[in-house]
Amino acid sequence: MKRLEIILGDITKVETDAIVNAANKTLLGGGGVDGAIHKAAGPELLEECRRLNGCETGEAKLTKGYRLPAKYVIHTVGPVWRGGDHGEDGLLAACYRNSLRLAVEYGIKTIAFPSISTGAYRFPVRRAARIAISEILKFLNEDKSIEKVLMVCFDNEAFKAYEEALREMTSKA
Ligand code: ADP
Repeated sequence: MKRLEIILGDITKVETDAIVNAANKTLLGGGGVDGAIHKAAGPELLEECRRLNGCETGEAKLTKGYRLPAKYVIHTVGPVWRGGDHGEDGLLAACYRNSLRLAVEYGIKTIAFPSISTGAYRFPVRRAARIAISEILKFLNEDKSIEKVLMVCFDNEAFKAYEEALREMTSKA
């Protein structure tokens, strides 16, 4: 059984222990996947988020999942794409790494990620996919407590980019 799987779908419907939210620094909700997660989780999620005092780019914070099938939401803030020479790659990698670290801390066994930063934040999807897959594989190699990581893509372009990145990185080994 593969521990990392790419799927096409809506992350708010996924039944993993935790889902990751591509939030903004305020953690007070936004559009895209953030809006969809808040809508599905209900107003209690926003209430808990208000108490967190925001989140820095590349870092992650955890809340309950409320009306979502997932028990927890891990909120991480991806970098806004500013051309690629403002530390975007490192910050995006940190989002995946810090979310996974937090998951381990809470005993989470199954976790789903959206394609962080590739929507409103305009990070090029193929580049983002390589960073995400490489960081997740590296983490899974070192940590044995996480049983399943799902990359949940919302459209075909993202799905293809993540599939391709996974293929590239697993055929190299
Ligand atoms: P960011 O601000 O980090 O770019 P966005 O929410 O704008 O975040 O986009 C991140 C990715 O999430 C995009 O690829 C978008 O298509 C995707 N997305 C939007 N809604 C959902 C959803 N319900 N489930 C999974 N992915 C989603």
